[in-house]
Amino acid sequence: MPTVRTATYAGVCFGVKRALALLDEALALGQKEGRPVQMFGPLIHNPRFIESYRQKGVELVEQEGIRDHSVLIIRSHGITREEEQYLKRFADLRVIDTTCPFVRRIHTLVDERSKAGWAIVVLGDMHHAEVKGFVSRIDGPYYVHPPDFSDAAVAALDRFLRNHDKFFTVAQTTVRPAHFTELLDRMGTLCRETRCRFEHQNTVCDATFQRQNAALELARSVEAMVVIGGKNSSNTAKLFAIVSKENPRSFWIESPDELSPDERSALAAAQSIGLTAGASTPDDQIADLAAYLEAL
Ligand code: SF4
Repeated sequence: MPTVRTATYAGVCFGVKRALALLDEALALGQKEGRPVQMFGPLIHNPRFIESYRQKGVELVEQEGIRDHSVLIIRSHGITREEEQYLKRFADLRVIDTTCPFVRRIHTLVDERSKAGWAIVVLGDMHHAEVKGFVSRIDGPYYVHPPDFSDAAVAALDRFLRNHDKFFTVAQTTVRPAHFTELLDRMGTLCRETRCRFEHQNTVCDATFQRQNAALELARSVEAMVVIGGKNSSNTAKLFAIVSKENPRSFWIESPDELSPDERSALAAAQSIGLTAGASTPDDQIADLAAYLEAL
């Protein structure tokens, strides 16, 4: 029977915990006032969790599906400025905004700096809802640099820096701190050459950093690793990338029943299994998985 160790920091972060508490408040409000409860995009990237709230009557909607008189829950990644404007057309919408305060702070930073004439550089995934929310609040030139530092991305950064003279840089909350440092180093070098002004705020979230370090440390000391979290969760994807590089016997699942017989055998053969979870994985899913692995 394997020994199962859960990473010191794993699972739900401050922002998601807050969002889950607000979701329950939204459900209570809907019941009290007889209003339908709608979730504007998935509150967290965790399909099992979303399904459990669907069964409690929460409807997952995109913009076209929003109905007046409902209780509308806004996700922790935040929404765009245009989406905020769109909501103003409804006369009797009860909006419960679960946008993480750390994400909201980045909205304010890029809004203020861009209005003050700074060109904005964002490190992150331009297709992620959180980054879409940032760029929608930028009033001027911006460039979103992907964390992969491909030749094309670096060349695009170089062009952008040569076309403006002062820059303000932030990061998507879930990027790896080392990637943000790398971007700042590259920008510093280029700015020395072109004599541009360059300031930044470190907006990488501690929760992500703590989970990544704890996962790496654990992956080095166990025979196998299991990461639990939504396949559409970017912070879970990053956790898996970190642990699988360190420990080749690593698995990423949303729930234990996804493990194939071969994978279960590989885990059962391990003396020790490390367990970590994305920032949007509720505690009960982690506890269930630990019990499952201990019983292998
Ligand atoms: S990872 Fe950080 S920024 Fe993202 S929701 Fe959690 S606390 Fe907020």
